[in-house]
Amino acid sequence: MSAPLLQVKNLVKQFPIKGGILQRVVDRVHAVDGVSFDLAAGETLGVVGESGCGKSTTGRCILRLIEPSSGQVVFDGQDVTTAGKDELRALARDMQIIFQDPYASLNPRMTVGAIIGEALTIHKLAPTKAAYEARIVDLLETVGLAADHMRRYPHEFSGGQRQRIGIARALAVSPKLVVCDEAVSALDVSIQAQVINLLEDLQEQFKLTYIFIAHDLSVVEHISDRVAVMYLGRIVEIAPANDLYSNPRHPYTEALLSAVPIPDPQVKRQRIRLQGDVPSPIRPPPGCHFHTRCPIAQKGLCDVQRPELKTVGAGHQVSCHLRT
Ligand code: SF4
Repeated sequence: MSAPLLQVKNLVKQFPIKGGILQRVVDRVHAVDGVSFDLAAGETLGVVGESGCGKSTTGRCILRLIEPSSGQVVFDGQDVTTAGKDELRALARDMQIIFQDPYASLNPRMTVGAIIGEALTIHKLAPTKAAYEARIVDLLETVGLAADHMRRYPHEFSGGQRQRIGIARALAVSPKLVVCDEAVSALDVSIQAQVINLLEDLQEQFKLTYIFIAHDLSVVEHISDRVAVMYLGRIVEIAPANDLYSNPRHPYTEALLSAVPIPDPQVKRQRIRLQGDVPSPIRPPPGCHFHTRCPIAQKGLCDVQRPELKTVGAGHQVSCHLRT
């Protein structure tokens, strides 16, 4: 079997909180707390969890847009975590990101052509002006926009079109891995479906590998080969998508899944309502982070011992003392 394209090993990110006159570190936000997974070339891993679970921070640490506190990220055999400035610039050609907010992530003062072409200039990928313009036209048409859009500004486009511009910008350098960081979360449901279909077509065309981050299991269902569910900085369940949706094992996954609407009106899921809010990542609960909201938590076990991710089926791992 070939080596995975991406290996994430025990990734940790803590954000220091400073206070007092001397601005000393008085606390830490435990945003990512020991995340590990592998990703094969051409695969899509959906990463899901409530706001503040660390999914976006994980994506950004993988790309080193945020410095990890510890752990290791290996991309295509190269250690990303120890890469120097020049190596990181070269890696940026292979690893790109599409951001959530198409309104905020495009510079309003730049034309669409300049936004998409920026990376071509940085990485010296267009030797002549004609080659530069031809590449931009090609990228615009690839994402379903028109050649004459290159001279217009982001405010002239709808939300879905702006996200297509963001996708074209990411594709400009012909990456291998794209982190889609809540890339469709700000869009209407019908536009979401169009953008997801586009991403699937592009994946096939350019053999892309995706990490697709969303807060809703229904959004990632269609596009993901595997899904990882995160809670307070940890992966609590990871499995092939079919398996996770048909046979969820972690109580948190069950609760998230119970909120996903089923298109068949004859079939009704029983909604599992979790008690309380997600605890603060500054002082996450001891033992299993989920024990304060878990409907089946066992006192003396779940509030004391951290459950490790253990294999419960083919490619299916769950972090729970009671689910085997
Ligand atoms: Fe619930 Fe305990 Fe399992 Fe955590 S380890 S999910 S608290 S049963």
